[in-house]
Amino acid sequence: PPDVEQLGRSTWTLLHSMTANYPERPSLTQQMETKQFISLFGKMYPCWVCADDFRSWMKDGNEPRVSNRDEFGKWMCEAHNAVNVKLGKKEFDCNKWEERWRTGWKD
Ligand code: FAD
Repeated sequence: PPDVEQLGRSTWTLLHSMTANYPERPSLTQQMETKQFISLFGKMYPCWVCADDFRSWMKDGNEPRVSNRDEFGKWMCEAHNAVNVKLGKKEFDCNKWEERWRTGWKD
C-alpha cells in the first residue's frame, strides 16, 4: 500500500538524519538513550509487519551500534539494506551513508 511506502521514505529520512546528527563522541547517557529510542521505535512503528521484521533483524545478531556517529550511521544503513533486500531493491553502499545523509554528494 502507498502509505507504507510514503511512511517508509519519511521515516528513513528521519532515522538517517538522526545518525547524521549523532555525536562523534557520544556520552554513555546518549548511547543508552539512543538504544532506548531504537527499541521503542521497533515497538511503535506504525507498520506492524515492518516493525516485527525490524525487531527480528535486530535480535538476529544486529543489535544497534551506537558507540559513535560512523558506527550508528553504518548500522542504520545495514538496517535499511536488510529491508531493501527483502523488497528486492538495490543495496546501498554503506561507505557512502555520510555523503548521502550528512555532507552531501561530492559531485
Ligand atoms: P527508501 O527505501 O524509502 O529509501 C529512501 C532513500 O534512502 C533512497 O532514495 C536512497 O537515497 C536512500 N537509501 C536507500 N537505501 C539506503 C541505505 N541502506 N542506507 C542509507 N540510505 C539509503 N516496506 C515494506 O513494504 N515492507 C517492510 O517490511 C518494510 N519495512 C520497513 C522497516 C522500516 C524500519 C522502515 C523505516 C521502512 C520499512 N519499509 C517497508 C518501507 C521501505 O523500506 C521503503 O521506505 C519504501 O518501500 C519506499 O522505498 P523507496 O524505494 O522510495 O526508498
